[in-house]
This record gives sequence, C-alpha cells and structure tokens, in this order.
Amino acid sequence: MLKLLLASQNAGKLRELQAILQELPIQLVAPAALNLNLDVEETGKTYAENAALKSKAFSNASGLIALGDDSGLEVDALNGAPGLYSARYAPTPNATDGDRRAYLLKNLLPHSRPWTARFRATIAITTLSDETYFAEGACEGEIIPEERGEGGFGYDPIFYIPELGCTMAELDEEKKNRISHRARALEKAKEILKTLMGK
Ligand code: IMP
Repeated sequence: MLKLLLASQNAGKLRELQAILQELPIQLVAPAALNLNLDVEETGKTYAENAALKSKAFSNASGLIALGDDSGLEVDALNGAPGLYSARYAPTPNATDGDRRAYLLKNLLPHSRPWTARFRATIAITTLSDETYFAEGACEGEIIPEERGEGGFGYDPIFYIPELGCTMAELDEEKKNRISHRARALEKAKEILKTLMGK
C-alpha cells in the first residue's frame, strides 16, 4: 500500500482524489492526520512551480510521497487573467468568491462576447528521492454575465460549458469530478502513481 500525502487542507480536494484513486492500492493521508500544518506561499510564476512548492514542502516535512496542485481560470479577453492570481483576484483584501465573480464581470463588460475561458490545473507529485513529476488538465468554456447553479465554488456559477449546456455550478459533484481540469490532471497523475508503484 502506497501512502500518499495530499499537500492541501481542502476537504473537497481530498474527496475528489479519493474518488479518482479508489481502485489503486493507495492510502491517502490528509495533513491533519499527521498534525502537519504547513502554510506554503504560492510564489511561483507558473501553476507547476506553485504545485511543486506544495508537494516538495509536504513531502520533505513528512517523509511521504506528496501530491500538490495549483489551478486557475484564464479568460482570453483579459489576456489570461486572473490565471495564477485567481484566488486573490479582487479589488479589496477580504473579498469573497462572489466579490471575485462580480469583479471579473465588471472587467469583462467592455469586451465583446463570447468571453472564452478555461480552467487549468497542474498536479505535482514529489517522491521519496525528491524527484517531482507533473500532470496537467484543462476544461474549456466561457464566462457568462449571470450566475447559474448552486454547486461548486469560486468561478463555477459564471463558467459555462457549451458542450454540456450548463455552468460548472449546475453539475453535481460526481459529474464535475469527471470533466473538471483537476479531474483531468488527476487521471494523468494516476498513471504517474501507477508507474511509481511499479518501481
Ligand atoms: P488553488 O489551486 O486551490 O490555489 O485555487 C486557485 C483558485 O482558482 C481558486 O481559489 C478559485 O478561485 C479558482 N478555481 C480553481 N479551480 C476552480 C474550480 O474548479 N471552480 C471554480 N474556481 C476554481
């Protein structure tokens, strides 16, 4: 049984990872189970750098293989913003997800539609020999000016997926976990983990 530490305190990410890795002989460990409370600053210039900062810090602190991720929303009309800064994208410091969505729509208003966009995720896996492997995933869609749906988090209510005819927030968790940027990156990460287990 391979022990894999998730380099995040996010309960939603733990559930998602558990669902995707369930058929592999992997024991997923949450940082809280080890009393690990690391606050890794996201100072990287790419999703990969940020994901690796997290996976390396958690692996080095625990002596376990660790999986870190970083993600963001890229809007073409805003030249890829908010991108790496998606979690911090707001005019005020204590902004909510709702404030961030309103700010994004305000910045998009002068631009003509469709406001094409994509979510991107990169996963980093740091091994016991301190090597780091990467997996990427994306989900294409467009930003719409009105909120739709109650599910998900962040930019989900204004992220519309044309093939599905609904926003990310209108999908149930199981469906989002099949098509999301993170789910796609995790499917590739699964292949990396299989290779590591074979070593
Ligand atoms: P992080 O990867 O947890 O640092 O997330 C970065 C930010 O990107 C989040 O705070 C959200 O604003 C945005 N984001 C990432 N993934 C999603 C998603 O699945 N839905 C909505 N927003 C997301």
